[in-house]
Amino acid sequence: MRALPRRVRITEVGMRDGLQMEPLVVATERKIEIGLALIEAGVRDIEATSFVSTTAVPQLADAAAVIAGLKGRGATLRALVPNANGARRAAAAQVDRMIVFMSASESHHRKNVRRSIAESLAGLEEIATVARGAGVALGGIVSTAFGCPYEGNVPLAAVARIVEAYAQVGMDEVSLGDTTGMATPPIVAAVVGGLRAQFPALPFALHFHNTRALGLVNVMQGLELGIDRYESSIGGLGGCPFAPGATGNVCTEDLLNMLNELGIETGMDLDRLIRVARDVERLLGRPLPGQLMRSGARLAPAQAAT
Ligand code: ZN
Repeated sequence: MRALPRRVRITEVGMRDGLQMEPLVVATERKIEIGLALIEAGVRDIEATSFVSTTAVPQLADAAAVIAGLKGRGATLRALVPNANGARRAAAAQVDRMIVFMSASESHHRKNVRRSIAESLAGLEEIATVARGAGVALGGIVSTAFGCPYEGNVPLAAVARIVEAYAQVGMDEVSLGDTTGMATPPIVAAVVGGLRAQFPALPFALHFHNTRALGLVNVMQGLELGIDRYESSIGGLGGCPFAPGATGNVCTEDLLNMLNELGIETGMDLDRLIRVARDVERLLGRPLPGQLMRSGARLAPAQAAT
């Protein structure tokens, strides 16, 4: 077993991956407040929004305004771009990184974007051209990289096909997404090991969901494989409020607590993050799945139950 990374970068995805699922449309000013509070807590990499169709996802219709409100405050601002039009809007808004997303499984991809994987791959170069022209970094997410709710296990070759296309257009990082929480430590080891063998120079990030309570266990597996980039959401935002059991992303403050206990540096402050998670919970008016926001840090002074 190799030594764990000494330092890990956490990308906070709650503002996009989390809020996208929320029925309550959060005011732009509140979103900016959340983003600034995250930065205040030491978050340096934020997936802030998505330049999707504003009619399809009203929650993210204020993408440019959210970027404007957080720009220049000390964090790298990422935004998802579904197509070249979205990429042009993202470039105009001066995002720091554009992120393309695709599923490794055909059925999930079609349900998600109503196009085939081949059609989406064909549009990749145009997005890359927009990003290059604007001087904006470009990365990619492979969704359902560890399993698909419709197709079951996803062959490594299907994941590698997308990664290959991403590498071809010059992406400098690829995130492997466990969209519906189907990853397990052996699957993580197999997928990461297989991709590293094929793409030894490409950095990978891991994006787990806690749907089956294996989120942090999978991160631990990733750490043991030497992966030093993870994506998570404040309070564990990201579950569908209407689907009981469909829990969200790995929770940022819970992940930070584990990394702290492992002696891994992140530059983030646990107590401050817990406060942000509680504020977000109050704002949304429903309990979030994060655990540290209930218990507090391990050696925090005990508080009377309220
Ligand atoms: Zn997610």
